Amino acid sequence: MKVTEHYEKASEPLISFEIIPPKRGGSVKTVFESIEKLMPVKPPFIDVTYHAAEAYIEELPDGTFKRHIKRKRPGTIGLCAAILHRFGVDPVPHLICEGFSKEESEDALIELNYLGIDNVLAIRGDDSGTSYNQRKNGTVNKYASDLVSQIKNMNNGIYLEEIANADPTDFCVGVAGYPEKHFEAPNLDWDIHRLKDKVDAGGDYIVTQMFFDNSAFFTFVEKCRQAGITVPIVPGIKVLSHIRHLTSLPKNFHLNLPDALSNEIFNNPERVREIGVEWCIEQCSQLLDYDVPGIHFYVMGDPQPALDVIEKLPTANKV
Ligand code: FAD
Repeated sequence: MKVTEHYEKASEPLISFEIIPPKRGGSVKTVFESIEKLMPVKPPFIDVTYHAAEAYIEELPDGTFKRHIKRKRPGTIGLCAAILHRFGVDPVPHLICEGFSKEESEDALIELNYLGIDNVLAIRGDDSGTSYNQRKNGTVNKYASDLVSQIKNMNNGIYLEEIANADPTDFCVGVAGYPEKHFEAPNLDWDIHRLKDKVDAGGDYIVTQMFFDNSAFFTFVEKCRQAGITVPIVPGIKVLSHIRHLTSLPKNFHLNLPDALSNEIFNNPERVREIGVEWCIEQCSQLLDYDVPGIHFYVMGDPQPALDVIEKLPTANKV
């Protein structure tokens, strides 16, 4: 079922999750165990991130250097198929522009269609140092809005090459939004207009980047509505549960941590997880009062902090 149908049919805000595939050579059993722990919450859908190949340099014993390009976390499509067929939950594979030609994106979408997967989150991805997209200039999707257009074209039976009577796909397409603006955007208003481009291209719903200050989300939603964006906007939420999150979250996700949160952790580092869970419960309760369609938890590899929060929330995925 499509993500938008889940929201339309729900009588309560829906709790959904985002997980990451294991590192190359890692055990998928560990991921299945994590998903198993999420099942009592009855998530309507689970997102699985996609990871572009990355360039890295290896120093050889003779002191010379060798450049490698490798996808560290392959397996998104396989994991999505397992989520659908093993757990009976709708998977939402992320599909990225970075590292994909348009033809490769089309092939991936054909695979997803054959697997009976109804949803995709269309994302640009970040430059992973492979220069892949620059090398294939012209045959790649530059922005997420270009990928959304490609998917919507396929939904209308328009493939890259003209194919008579091509079978149309029927994907529901999610896109990413940034309450604190995307780091490359000159300002929030400009970024919201680019978000509107994605929605106008066919984005059916928006999931936001994580944030820790709800006022940023409320302002973002207000500005989106003023800009004419009418699709559901789902807050993406992460529980701050490690001391290293104080630096890694702002650095990797270009977000601000409120002083009240960071100061409390700084003064009580041994209680970091407890403080993070309490902060998140408060944040989610406010969001539920604001009538969000759902809350999307970034669980990454560890579902427990999110489960500790959900246990205290006045919602259980009732449809
Ligand atoms: P876009 O919407 O293409 O925007 C990127 C930047 O370009 C923005 O600054 C925007 O304002 C600007 N822009 C857009 N259109 C134009 C235009 N026409 N002209 C000029 N500027 C323009 N990364 C992964 O690698 N894998 C994942 O699975 C993944 N999942 C994510 C899920 C969510 C919910 C979120 C919020 C992010 C995710 N990311 C993921 C990170 C994402 O790839 C990065 O944030 C990336 O830098 C931007 O992706 P986007 O789809 O928002 O890009």
